[in-house]
Amino acid sequence: MATHFNYPDPALQDELRKIANAIVAPGKGILAADESVGTMGKRLADIGLENTEENRRKYRQLLFTSDKTIGDYISGVILFHETLYQKADDGTPFPELLKQRGIIPGIKVDTGVVPLFGTQDECTTQGLDDLGKRCAQYKKDGCHFAKWRCVLKIKDHTPSYQACLENANVLARYASICQENRIVPIVEPEILPDGTHDIERCQKVTETVLAFVYKALNDHNVFLEGTLLKPNMVTGGMSHPVKFSPEQIGRATVTALSRTVPPAVPGIVFLSGGQSEEEATVNLDAINKFQGKKPWVLSFSYGRALQASVLRAWGGKDANVPAGQAELMKRAKANSEASLGKYVAGSVQGQAADQGLFVKNHAY
Ligand code: 13P
Repeated sequence: MATHFNYPDPALQDELRKIANAIVAPGKGILAADESVGTMGKRLADIGLENTEENRRKYRQLLFTSDKTIGDYISGVILFHETLYQKADDGTPFPELLKQRGIIPGIKVDTGVVPLFGTQDECTTQGLDDLGKRCAQYKKDGCHFAKWRCVLKIKDHTPSYQACLENANVLARYASICQENRIVPIVEPEILPDGTHDIERCQKVTETVLAFVYKALNDHNVFLEGTLLKPNMVTGGMSHPVKFSPEQIGRATVTALSRTVPPAVPGIVFLSGGQSEEEATVNLDAINKFQGKKPWVLSFSYGRALQASVLRAWGGKDANVPAGQAELMKRAKANSEASLGKYVAGSVQGQAADQGLFVKNHAY
């Protein structure tokens, strides 16, 4: 086997390492605000608003004009292409608002999932063709990290070898192109929580999927110190009759990660995957409280679990912007505490804290 390769030059290694480490600085995590136009439409419909560019802008403005102390809890925000180029009422570009708060702008760069022919409803993720060009432009426009989401499904006969191999490879190719363009890739192989499986099945599937991912990252010469992993937590399926405890989730999650994710990776930032806001916080806290080998920072990169109460409190009314921002601040602080294993369950109340946020076959 031919094994010639070059490590990235020291300056690039340094830049990538610094960005990744800043994102997982102690007590900080990511707000995923990169919902596509379609997904944002569903969120807005829930509060009776039309899916217009202006309504999407107003909502994101609410998030990004929160009090400056939000930067104590949130280190990075993932943006959608449209949002990156939008401005606040006073003309300030959104990435500038984030910078003023000490928050690093990031960008979703995949273009969505497509079916894998010949599989049982499995999929891969598209967007590689012009990725290099887009990354170069995004870097110029102030984005220092990116996200690419792959989706795997647990059923009796899935995920298949084909889906594991293909999704790992596309994530690795994406990661390599990002690094070439001085962007830290967030590698997201999301195993959906849909299904009747128990927690052990989810643990084994997570271990297998991650083993494929780290083999592919190595095959593509990806510099692990300049990456972050965004996995699902290890839980039972949403239709499994038993509700597993945060302690069980903490144990299964850390065990799966410790078997598969190299210590060179600086941080693991979980997605919330349809858990309620409070569940996502309590489970992250349990993961951090679990006594085991944890050579990486374990933090959050939540979409739904940081925004459900915000959307409810705002309700699309200008007068409620401060109330929406107050909800964001509370949830961000709660998750910051959980990332340090210091959250007291139930200590933060939110307008939608206990609302289930599960969406079948979730698309982003
Ligand atoms: P959820 O936290 O809503 O699962 O989404 C996070 C995300 O960015 C998925 O790609």
